Amino acid sequence: MTAEDVVRQADEAGLRLVRFLWCGNDGTVRAKASALPGLEGRIQSGIGLTVAMQAMSSLDQLQPVEGMGPVGEVRLVPDPSTFRVLPYAPHVGAMLVDHVQLDGEPAPVDQRSFLKRMEGRLAERGAKLEAAFENEFSLATLVDGRYVPIDSGLCFSTISATAAQDFLDELVAALQEQEIGIEQYYSELGHGQHEISTPHRPALRAADEQLLTRETIRGVASRHGLVASLAPKPWPENAGNGCHIHFSLWEADGSRNRFHDESAPDRLSDEARSFVAGVLAHLPGLCGLAAPSFNSYHRIIPQYWAGAFVCWGHDNREAPVRVPSVFRGMEEASTNAELKAADASSNPYLAVGGLIAAGLDGLERGLEPPEPVEVDPATIDEKEREARGIVRLPATQAEALDALEADSVLMDALGPVLAGSYLAVRRSEWEAYSAGDEAFEQAGHFSKY
Ligand code: GLU
Ligand code: MG
Repeated sequence: MTAEDVVRQADEAGLRLVRFLWCGNDGTVRAKASALPGLEGRIQSGIGLTVAMQAMSSLDQLQPVEGMGPVGEVRLVPDPSTFRVLPYAPHVGAMLVDHVQLDGEPAPVDQRSFLKRMEGRLAERGAKLEAAFENEFSLATLVDGRYVPIDSGLCFSTISATAAQDFLDELVAALQEQEIGIEQYYSELGHGQHEISTPHRPALRAADEQLLTRETIRGVASRHGLVASLAPKPWPENAGNGCHIHFSLWEADGSRNRFHDESAPDRLSDEARSFVAGVLAHLPGLCGLAAPSFNSYHRIIPQYWAGAFVCWGHDNREAPVRVPSVFRGMEEASTNAELKAADASSNPYLAVGGLIAAGLDGLERGLEPPEPVEVDPATIDEKEREARGIVRLPATQAEALDALEADSVLMDALGPVLAGSYLAVRRSEWEAYSAGDEAFEQAGHFSKY
């Protein structure tokens, strides 16, 4: 796909605007749009953006980060291969962008470039990561300033599915039209809670599509007079919204799933075990990237199926790293692991890039995972838990960010500019929300993610 192809397709689709989309350190999706006249030039040289945006928190409060003040400009340069016509926004298309310095080099803060660097490190080992996201979200109407769930149905209830059916029909069509596709849908446990899973893709494309999917869920809901929230804990008393990330390592040419070993009882190869061991070794810090908001830690609590203790297990939904059993007849294709300690308030480039950095450390050091946990870890005696290293994951956003800062593998992978600005932005959110009440927390997350 070239700039010319995009312009031709945009023209044929009758578009008036094409959004240049990005996700910043605060995990929100933002955009600047180009009109059709001049689009080709803007694809080549980008749209200007103040360098300050990467120091902006999800409260739109600019943080004091060196080099990210009122003076200075980066270019938002789109990747033409990500071009989509947006079915839910009249005459609008979108592309994902890189943040590029004026000299043409990727900006050190650019999260999308970070993920490309991590993919590059895997490529040196002849491998690529495939990832798939499972988005849980809550559908609500706004009544007298309060978000009210559209249903109070049971888990997997068809009554809840019926309550959402017109929205859902349009959502599935919109995802298909954007060549994202959908694997499964069901109504989830929480009131108004629904879940879709999208197909696995190479890491960068998966992260790009995760942003398009988040946009599509919210965009389609809004056409139905609904508010869709992907916030980790939309209501304090209701089930949390996870955004589990399934992952597997493949030969770079896609010829073989390197996570799969026919002869292993659980079908996990040695390489998969080392990768998983790396993820576990860095899990507290990884939480700072994959479950990064204040609201995230009202979701990650024991016995809410989000995974609250550092451990892995087979088909264990209380383990933050779950190895699902393979599908009979599709053993190789279905061998994968799942990171449950992840939600959609994360920047997916950082979540997946961090996952790769952690897994790579496991590969490089040839780590072996600890004994898998095949029961609910909360039911294991505390002393035994401690002895087995099954420690509690960070219990607050502040703890997760401290764990990230203390993790030299993740910090080195991010580099000082990205890591520094990220921590400044996220820590400012902790300061704001930890001083506020539940209503302030909900207002700051429900309709932003
Ligand atoms: N809602 C749970 C979470 O917060 C996940 C439930 C499940 O799908 O296992 O991650
Ligand atoms: Mg679920």
